[in-house]
Amino acid sequence: MVGDAVERLASISVDLDTLPHYCRIFGVPESVLDAAALEVVAARAIPRYLELFDRAGTAATFFCIGSDLSLPGMSAALERSHRQGVELASHSWSHDYALSRWASDEIVADLRRADEALTALTGVRPVGFRAPGYTLTPALLGAVAKLGYSYDSSTYPAVPYYLAKAGVMGLLELVRRPSRAILDTPRVLLAPTTPYRPSPTAPYSRGASAVVELPVAVAPVTRLPFIGAFATALPWPVVEATFRTLRRVPHFNFELHAIDVLDATDGIPPELVRRQRDLKVPASTKLDRLGRLFAWLGDDRQRVTVAEAARRYASVV
Ligand SMILES: [Zn+2]
Repeated sequence: MVGDAVERLASISVDLDTLPHYCRIFGVPESVLDAAALEVVAARAIPRYLELFDRAGTAATFFCIGSDLSLPGMSAALERSHRQGVELASHSWSHDYALSRWASDEIVADLRRADEALTALTGVRPVGFRAPGYTLTPALLGAVAKLGYSYDSSTYPAVPYYLAKAGVMGLLELVRRPSRAILDTPRVLLAPTTPYRPSPTAPYSRGASAVVELPVAVAPVTRLPFIGAFATALPWPVVEATFRTLRRVPHFNFELHAIDVLDATDGIPPELVRRQRDLKVPASTKLDRLGRLFAWLGDDRQRVTVAEAARRYASVV
């Protein structure tokens, strides 16, 4: 158990999902994406994040999709991120939302391919993984362990049901998990919200895996998900109040997406903006909010990469 004796840490991580993945979630043909739209994460989102990290003086982690490395500008943007000290972790090769249901050897092959691509790019092997759609199964956790990763950060123990009950306008829409293809086991709702060692046979329960699990931040009691879409698009007093409820959690594992620093004027097709409503919030507003939150996280916590958080919690979980 992670108790009061353990130092409180914060990790800022960004899943670098590019627009073709959003087309797949929403069933929008990828032909709506022009060259600029295909490059927007590399050309705009990554530089904006690097500037934010630099200004806030914070460590950070990017979860990278292997197959996206072939998109224009992506390899160069990730190399630059690595040089700036950002941890590059794996978000799989294919980013298939049903990855966790593939056969074990196919999952291992997918993860290994992403691993090799990232290692070839920077010379450094990734040590962490986040599953597409956040869905963890014994087969997927087994693949992460087999590759020798030290941590996984896929558990997202939020309770959308409570979001509806909370009656916050549009919240459900904003924080919808990009995992329409499959429905996760309800067991995730009872998963620990603090760092833990998962059971190899039931990853949402405590056990003795070699891999440390670092759940994505959710507010205590309400289990409201404190993720990028929440922080950038909800009324600021709601964001501030929810942030305060997370003051005592051991690991504030703040998870964001590339689109959390983009808006409709960045050349994103209207078909996607209509479906992903937080793209209507001006990027300047989002950047201002994230700058403030990144600074607040540094007020009473040390901000470290997800890999460093896993290293420090490994001996106490
Ligand atoms: Zn993703």
